[in-house]
Amino acid sequence: MHSTDDLYAESPLHMIDIIRKKRDGGALSEREIQFVVTGAASGSVPLEQLAAWLMASWLNGLSLEETRALAMAMRDSGEKFSPARLGKTAVDKHSTGGVGDKTSFLIAPLAAACGVAVPMISGRALGHTGGTLDKLEAIPGYRTALSLSEFESVLMKCGASIVSQTPSLVPADRVLYALRDRTGTVENAGLICASILSKKLAAGLDALVLDVKTGSGAFLRDPAQSEFLAALMVATAEAAGARTVALLTDMGRPLGYAAGNWIELVEAVDLLGGKRPAESEDLRELSLILAGWMIHLGGLAATPEAGYARAEKALGDGSALRIFFEMIEAQGGDTHVFDNPAQFHKPGATEVISAWDSGSIAEMDTTALGWAVQRTGAGREKAGELVDPHAGIIFHARRGAKVKQGEPLATLYATTAAQLAEPSELLRDAITISAVPPEFVPLVGRIITRENAENYLRNAVR
Ligand code: URA
Repeated sequence: MHSTDDLYAESPLHMIDIIRKKRDGGALSEREIQFVVTGAASGSVPLEQLAAWLMASWLNGLSLEETRALAMAMRDSGEKFSPARLGKTAVDKHSTGGVGDKTSFLIAPLAAACGVAVPMISGRALGHTGGTLDKLEAIPGYRTALSLSEFESVLMKCGASIVSQTPSLVPADRVLYALRDRTGTVENAGLICASILSKKLAAGLDALVLDVKTGSGAFLRDPAQSEFLAALMVATAEAAGARTVALLTDMGRPLGYAAGNWIELVEAVDLLGGKRPAESEDLRELSLILAGWMIHLGGLAATPEAGYARAEKALGDGSALRIFFEMIEAQGGDTHVFDNPAQFHKPGATEVISAWDSGSIAEMDTTALGWAVQRTGAGREKAGELVDPHAGIIFHARRGAKVKQGEPLATLYATTAAQLAEPSELLRDAITISAVPPEFVPLVGRIITRENAENYLRNAVR
């Protein structure tokens, strides 16, 4: 005698039935989701059926259980990295994307200097946001495409490694992500959560710190949506066995003073080397907070505050900078370019934008500023294009600063003089100078942990 479940488990599945069930608002079983993901990775389900399933999922949403099943099936769809031989707790950070967000260059060596392993699989520029890999590739020789065994040996040697996704890691996401991009199905919390976590979990992490951006430069600007996504990711990653926390952080202005590729690395290395310019204070603080959480979740500090203190020590004694340079060299990069960063920086064209009025910087439309950075040549128009390592924008004034008419507001570095006009116009439109100063916005807002995630999910707005 078979139970009903056994009979169901043995019955063949058909993609058309799964699409119709999702279209009509039904909840898919783990087995049905596994069928879709295996079909995406192997090519056995045609793209038109995957696209229909994606749209049905986008329109009707995925439940918490479906999201979990999708994240785990995607995680298991290809090769995985095992940090077991590193002999350390493996912890990573993921940011939902920002402008001038270079925290990875600080966090990875800071956490590694405090004893956790940081296997960081990063991405390229996406939309108006910058990409960690594009920035690192500004360093001559730096290789982002390592095999998993090379990744492991850099981690063994340095404690941190920042690389790109390998072709065999999470192949289901490669197919589904490209399809979402072409079918208008990117912005869905369940699909975003499963896509991001599948890649993080395939790196075998013990713990994960999520930096979920809110404000004018975030993909999800509405704080309620960011909160829901953050809680969904925490609950899903915890269910997969990774200790996870999400911090909602302000992206209502660029982070630090530089946004581009080489110029962001210089800002990060200056901080790692002990410099402390006032314009980088928010970057320093956020990096220490995130690293503090990584060290805490990695079991090497009793509280995130104690983790912060350890990370601050590693910043002060130069050990994090040593690790960052060791990592760059282990991945083929030439660290001598940091001996004289100004000499290495050779932008095609430069323009200084001065304040057109006196008053306070009341508003920065950070998405528009991100597009301005992209248009200098620092980002790409089409997938696969080369980016200009020297292009980008230095912001001389922060949100809330008082400026006098004629004072420099920003310096634009573009690939050619013709590429200055568009970013310059975007920047002028994006910045509001007013007699009324802006309201204070804290750098770090809500913190979502495994203890409160379910609560947020119950109360949050989808
Ligand atoms: N980044 C990802 O990797 N996936 C998404 O769906 C969105 C951002």
